[in-house]
Amino acid sequence: MRPEVLNCLFAQSAGLKGVGPGLSRPLERLGLQRIRDLAYHLPERFVQRRAVASLDEAAPGEQIVVALTPREHRQSSGRGPFRVMAEDDIGNIVALTYFGRASYTAKKQLPVGARRWVAGRLDQFGQTWQIVHPDHVSADGAAMLGQLNEPVYGLSEGLTQGRVQALVQQALAQLPHLPEWIEPGLVARMDWPAWHDALQRAHHGHDKAARDRLAYDELLANSLALMLVRESNRARKGTPLHGDGHLRARLSLPFELTGAQKRAIAEIESDLAQGAPMLRLLQGDVGSGKTAVALHAMLMAVECSTQAALLAPTEILARQHAETLQRMAAGTGVTIALLTGRDKGKARESILMGLVDGSIDICVGTHAIFQDAVTYRNLALVVIDEQHRFGVGQRLMLSQKGRRTPHCLAMTATPIPRTLTLAEYGEMDVSRLDEMPPGRQPIDTRVIAQERLGDVIEAIGRHIAKGAQAYWVCPMVREQESADLAAAEARHAMLRERFGHGVEMVHGQMRPEDKDSAMQRFARGEAKLLVATTVIEVGVDVPNATLMVIEQAERFGLAQLHQLRGRVGRGSQQSTCLLLRGDALSETGRERLALMRETQDGFRLAEEDLRLRGGGELLGTRQSGDTPFRVADLDQIARLLPLAHDDARLLMERDGGLSSERGAAARILLYLFERDWGVQLLRGG
Ligand code: ADP
Ligand code: MG
Repeated sequence: MRPEVLNCLFAQSAGLKGVGPGLSRPLERLGLQRIRDLAYHLPERFVQRRAVASLDEAAPGEQIVVALTPREHRQSSGRGPFRVMAEDDIGNIVALTYFGRASYTAKKQLPVGARRWVAGRLDQFGQTWQIVHPDHVSADGAAMLGQLNEPVYGLSEGLTQGRVQALVQQALAQLPHLPEWIEPGLVARMDWPAWHDALQRAHHGHDKAARDRLAYDELLANSLALMLVRESNRARKGTPLHGDGHLRARLSLPFELTGAQKRAIAEIESDLAQGAPMLRLLQGDVGSGKTAVALHAMLMAVECSTQAALLAPTEILARQHAETLQRMAAGTGVTIALLTGRDKGKARESILMGLVDGSIDICVGTHAIFQDAVTYRNLALVVIDEQHRFGVGQRLMLSQKGRRTPHCLAMTATPIPRTLTLAEYGEMDVSRLDEMPPGRQPIDTRVIAQERLGDVIEAIGRHIAKGAQAYWVCPMVREQESADLAAAEARHAMLRERFGHGVEMVHGQMRPEDKDSAMQRFARGEAKLLVATTVIEVGVDVPNATLMVIEQAERFGLAQLHQLRGRVGRGSQQSTCLLLRGDALSETGRERLALMRETQDGFRLAEEDLRLRGGGELLGTRQSGDTPFRVADLDQIARLLPLAHDDARLLMERDGGLSSERGAAARILLYLFERDWGVQLLRGG
């Protein structure tokens, strides 16, 4: 049960003043449904303003607050801007310029002759001063001068800075005081504020100590939870498996295993022989041959007359896995079944029967394979593909199946820098496939200016005419979801007009069935061109697709580009990846795209990405989706994670049951960061 002191933090944001039904969607999109989320919605940066008595004191480009008196309203003809010509206290004239609907409010806020305080960026426009869309206009000077240092928050459509600021302030006013969970010596050495103060301070100015403390909390929560999982796993009973190899001997794979595959298989074999359940991560770039390793592991289970299950993140991937495994294992006599949420009636019944009576050896599917109705005769091994899509909590739920805890092999193609491996997978044992199967052709990667779109489309035409298939990827980010979606849809329409009905589209807001059927048409070769937002990232395998175009490539993370590019180059044909770039490319942006051209080593790209994004930027280096953290950014992870890890380890050694005073505080921390599955394990023992 969640400690009571946290209840106010987990109340819904919808209960706050000023949150109508229109705000719930935008808040949800930013993950701000609860008071807690608002409190942790830390500013991306701060606008520093200077109060000036007259415009003479300010420089062009400077953020200022100044008192002005409007002298004239000027409406330009047609769609031109609306201007308020205003005067400072010594007679300098400045144009306050508004476009579109903002001019209605401006007219009301800035009546001629009424002295107002105006905040905004002062620019020079020819000979005159200008402020385009002032940030604030108010008759109340004291209020404005109190806002010289203003936080800037991440937004999504439908939310304004003012609205988010007001909601965050309400949330901050409700924060409880919580006991200290960090080791006291560390708090003193770092000069960190207590939790309550840290949150207040982090919203009111650039405050490194406060931000670090909050990040540290999150890292500590994560480390502790992963350790609790590991501890409880050690205490459980698995099924020791000593496969005699008779099924593996009957495998006739059309290739020789790589050294890395052999090493991983040997590591798994030795884990499976233990009494405690395996908890191992198989990390290997796209195409490194994880499936063959998984098959070997599953055969080890079947050799001991137990069952294995493979969990995939989507139906398509589940189907692909089932087909691949059936083909690979054809000579072994092993029975492999596919179970998805879509199977109904008789077909489903017969699979369920097969799992109960043990006539099915290996079950492949989506999370449907772990629903309550599904019972296994003796499940001894669970393989999870693309494990980052599943929380550890879900992994644990799996372990309730079967009388003994199944061994767990998680597989991921996400290349993670070494500093992050600990954070993501903490206490798991790791096997890395750091060697590619021989004979891979490098993907010919080129960076092309957006203006050459016409040439690119011609190239696609030639490509399709040869019977090959292609992907066209458009960016999609939360902050401008509908604009991005509109752009992707426009691109789809345009390509369809050019190439006809063999052009399909998939994006994140489609119904899963529609998405699946579009994907299927592409996988079967009926569609030649697939326009997609990032949903194709994970696992899709269409060897005939040998060309990929990525629009606005600079907006993607390197790791993400790498994952996307991994969709091509899967057959024997030479593949090409065209990265279209906009013209306003930063130095770092240039460097990142150049790296994509230079290397195909996912681990190297991940490390370089971290290096390029670290340093430099002040706040907000965090990119959603890259790490399991919302508060800690990459730089903080690198600096503070080792400390948090040691701190957690020490606490576990002294007080593994979290029953001391500090242990109780640590429980609160786990709930605060929703790592409470850790606590629940404690109780379960
Ligand atoms: P991953 O799941 O790691 O992205 P797959 O398991 O799908 O990679 O393997 C990619 C391709 O490489 C498959 O076509 C597979 O048959 C092939 N493959 C796997 N191992 C080897 C190997 N040792 N030698 C040659 N080809 C291999
Ligand atoms: Mg795979």
